[in-house]
Amino acid sequence: MMFAFLGVRLLTEFAYLAENLAEVKADIAKAKAEGTHAAANVKLLAVSKTVPADVVAACWRLGVDGLAENRVQELLMKQEELPADAKWHLIGHLQTNKVRQIIGRVQMIHSLESWRLAEEIEKRAAAQNIIVPCLLEVNVAAEDSKFGLAPAEVWDFVQAAARLPHLRLDGLMTVAPNAPAEEVRPVFAELRELRDEINRQAEKIADLQVVLQELSMGMSNDYKVAVEEGATMVRVGSRIFGGRVYR
Ligand SMILES: *Cc1c(COP(=O)(O)O)cnc(C)c1O
Repeated sequence: MMFAFLGVRLLTEFAYLAENLAEVKADIAKAKAEGTHAAANVKLLAVSKTVPADVVAACWRLGVDGLAENRVQELLMKQEELPADAKWHLIGHLQTNKVRQIIGRVQMIHSLESWRLAEEIEKRAAAQNIIVPCLLEVNVAAEDSKFGLAPAEVWDFVQAAARLPHLRLDGLMTVAPNAPAEEVRPVFAELRELRDEINRQAEKIADLQVVLQELSMGMSNDYKVAVEEGATMVRVGSRIFGGRVYR
């Protein structure tokens, strides 16, 4: 009800969103066509942090594969204001004391980065009798400021996580250094190679049920390169919502 006039607003007030989305989607299509390592399916997640709910609703209506937030509270508040069919992803650091509130409300948690968090997700998911899809966050460039496992820690973690029945590990995620896109290409390539290597190792172990398909990588300044290097999900915020002052 709240967005009853959204149809009209989409054509006028939110025309810039339609334009930005069309450009981003064209970029993704081009990168898919040109990148030797590009995935067949690439999901566009609109990162809606700090963006008001009516604008996020317009973006969802215009067509993205998901909406991504990095804070639990902000995600839950906007979720209440948006259509129930909106698909949400948590991409920011998750504290163990917020796990109970967020599981079951998101398609995927992209920011699994400690065993303590994995155990808490398992415990709370078991209590709710649900399975929680997660991505393992990897700090490929070993930046002090970033969360995530070191690449060398990932294989042990994957094997241990495979024994948690209510947590499903679907792939890997990384936040690349803030640098020109071509400079971070090796980071994206390394995440892809790590995923492929984990899958090769896992295949050799008969009772290990692990297939990592997803690669969540690429933001506004580097999503084209990320898609060329095999991203299956890009997380794009300011290129869709920001920088412009049409409102
Ligand atoms: C904010 C954020 C993004 C999107 O950043 P933009 O540069 O605005 O596209 C992507 N991933 C994470 C984890 C973020 O926190």
